[in-house]
Amino acid sequence: MSDLRELYQQVIIEHSRNPRNFRELEGASHSAEGYNPLCGDQITVYVVLDGDRVKDIAFKGMGCAISKASASLMTAAVKGKTRAEAEDLFKRFREMVTGKHDAEVDEEALGKLAVFSGVREFPVRVKCATLAWHTLHAALEGTGKPVSTE
Ligand code: ZN
Repeated sequence: MSDLRELYQQVIIEHSRNPRNFRELEGASHSAEGYNPLCGDQITVYVVLDGDRVKDIAFKGMGCAISKASASLMTAAVKGKTRAEAEDLFKRFREMVTGKHDAEVDEEALGKLAVFSGVREFPVRVKCATLAWHTLHAALEGTGKPVSTE
């Protein structure tokens, strides 16, 4: 196991144990629920939009370490960003975790989210890693319908 991969694993474990922005957000302007029946992950994402910008974001839920760490890092990455920037990050994130094994990871654009690059080697984990992002997308779209990865 390379040093980089070990570091990535440590970040994921640390965020799953101490998730950031893990709370219900009162006064959320947008929220959505997401489910990953394959693994049993469930999440609610709360967003406070200020104009076009994500002023505050939080999540609650339960699930595996990957889904929790991904939600934690998602909220940290998206806070302060515009909707378009958040959707762009989602696109890049999804491309990374569904990409080819040896595809290059744009660490500059993805920042800490690059820790999930190893997930593409475990297809069954991809839904755990993307659940929070799909749910964020649904919250921003404001459909009010729960999202399922199945
Ligand atoms: Zn999971």
